[in-house]
Amino acid sequence: MGTISYKCPSCGAELRWDGRSETLTCDFCGSTFSPDDLAVENQIIDSHAGAQGEVRDDGGGLFSYTCPACGAELVTDGTTAADRCPYCDNNVVHSDRVSGDFLPEFVIPFKVTKKDAENAFREHYKKKLLVPGKFRSESRISEIKGVYVPFWLFSGDACGDVEFNAENSRTWTDGKYRITETDHYRLYRSGRLEYENVPFDGSSKADDVYMEAVEPFRYGEAVPFSPAYLSGFLADKYDVYHTDGAPRVRDRVENSLVSLIRGTVSGYDSVSPYTKNVSVRQYTPRYVMMPVWMLSTEFKGKIYRFAMNGQTGKFVGEAPVDPGKFAAWLLGLTAVFSAVFTAIYYFISM
Ligand SMILES: [Zn+2]
Ligand SMILES: [Zn+2]
Repeated sequence: MGTISYKCPSCGAELRWDGRSETLTCDFCGSTFSPDDLAVENQIIDSHAGAQGEVRDDGGGLFSYTCPACGAELVTDGTTAADRCPYCDNNVVHSDRVSGDFLPEFVIPFKVTKKDAENAFREHYKKKLLVPGKFRSESRISEIKGVYVPFWLFSGDACGDVEFNAENSRTWTDGKYRITETDHYRLYRSGRLEYENVPFDGSSKADDVYMEAVEPFRYGEAVPFSPAYLSGFLADKYDVYHTDGAPRVRDRVENSLVSLIRGTVSGYDSVSPYTKNVSVRQYTPRYVMMPVWMLSTEFKGKIYRFAMNGQTGKFVGEAPVDPGKFAAWLLGLTAVFSAVFTAIYYFISM
């Protein structure tokens, strides 16, 4: 087991992935490299500079390792694939956690920079009307981390038969009788769909709600994996197996197929599914790393969390609601409603 730190071949300073230029960048001398350039050269630099660290199992799910740059003794958990030395800020990739069974097939590199993420956070809260003014004016970010989250991407196909009960009713009056006539139908439909890249996050640490909220990613821009992309970010290897995600993905696909089939039924007053028989086929899923910025901020003793898609910039999260502003907003709504009612009443009474 070992660690890799990417050193600049020109000056020996450390390299980090820069989303804007899409290169590994040396902040010290300004040199830039593609991950391919580094694959060979960096190995040499590593062994010469002794930058290859050792990782030891401490038991209890913890591992200790020596920072290749400053020699500090550091502790990590069993799933961390990339992190940063808190003493010297050196970026470390744990090579054993992105190889063998844990080798991702693809990675979507970060495109959105840390600065972009910080600006998006501020812009987002400038626009929120119900957020307390103090929160917006301060909007300090207490923590911001770029994380590569391990994902399983499922593809396959599904086919199924669905039966629906449907009704059409009409009502008329005949003398003193009010007559309702209802026609009942049993409808049969069948359909088939192919699906591609339905994601399931493979990290128990990542919040599933946030991970689904930052979807979709543009999978067409995924590139073959190289550990160099992880430099300067945090990363985890998967600890949730694809077999655990399969039932959830099967449900998502089944629901999509049933609602597509349901979309072909029209011209009835009411429709409800009666029986469904859907079979979903799944190919072996692909293992990929996806970029997510995680931000958090503290306001009045409570932590608020946000996430941003590191490729598309889609921003999600929660914010405190100002009770005073909320009340004013409700009052405003009531005022509008009563104004509308008054106007209607006025028209009626005319
Ligand atoms: Zn350099
Ligand atoms: Zn260090």
